[in-house]
Amino acid sequence: MVVRRGQKKSGPQESRKLAKSSDAPKLRPPRSAAILLTLQPAAADQGANLKDLMKEAKAKINIESLGISGMVFKPARTGGKLLEISGAEKDAQADALAAKLREAMPAELVKVSRPVKMADVRISGLDDSVSPEEVAAAIAKVSGCSTESIKVGEIREVFSGGATVVRVPVPVAKTLSQGRLLVGWVSAKVKVLPPKEMRCFRCWETGHTGAQCTAEVDRSNHCYRCNKPGHKSRDCKEAPNCPLCAAAKKPADHKVGSRVCSPPKSKSKGKAGKGRSSARTRATPTSPNTQGPMEVSQIPD
Ligand SMILES: [Zn+2]
Ligand SMILES: [Zn+2]
Ligand SMILES: [Zn+2]
Repeated sequence: MVVRRGQKKSGPQESRKLAKSSDAPKLRPPRSAAILLTLQPAAADQGANLKDLMKEAKAKINIESLGISGMVFKPARTGGKLLEISGAEKDAQADALAAKLREAMPAELVKVSRPVKMADVRISGLDDSVSPEEVAAAIAKVSGCSTESIKVGEIREVFSGGATVVRVPVPVAKTLSQGRLLVGWVSAKVKVLPPKEMRCFRCWETGHTGAQCTAEVDRSNHCYRCNKPGHKSRDCKEAPNCPLCAAAKKPADHKVGSRVCSPPKSKSKGKAGKGRSSARTRATPTSPNTQGPMEVSQIPD
């Protein structure tokens, strides 16, 4: 008698079902590499301003020797000023220039950072023992980027095990989107999430940041889920309530910015972007340090 053991070995069905579906957001690499200059509080005390500091830096730095032929200079949405470099060598050139700027300008007066375009990726199917640090390490291993540039959210229990939303630089998201991610013992599912619109942490409207907010209402210490002050959305036990939809007399029994949330587009107070209509695909370079914590888009659904 032949016992057909092993016959029922798990088939290859579930292994390679790659998410090449059309609903996966396009991950376009940024067209420019940016350097963000942010004036520090000490600058005001010393009467220093960016104009003079830049003048000094320009006298000390020869951009041609770095291979840079020209840059775009513009105000950053979060405050501060951006220098944008394009071209094939943009990243290396921006790194080199940022290093020179750090030498040329006192760190206590100006912070020089290199904001990177980020994307949100959902990792699911994690086993109970997995920590955020392990997820970051697993991503760093496959993508070659440092764990500092990976922001892992809280790991939450859903039907299919643990799941979390991770914020990573776009090229890393691209690498991850190729398949599954080995985290500890399990092969976790990876899904690149569509970009969320930038949302002001103060009034919760989209289209401007807290630094540009002119709204009278200040919801910065309110819960994103129920719009009541005094607790975080992760601790929320109230019914969801969206003040933006409520103001528009629309159904408001949801968390602000969730899938069903559709308040009318507000005329953003800050600077109405000139002709930048495609907010969905807007490629604003954002820094996890300078911008991330301020915006609601950090909060996972
Ligand atoms: Zn606002
Ligand atoms: Zn709440
Ligand atoms: Zn809403």
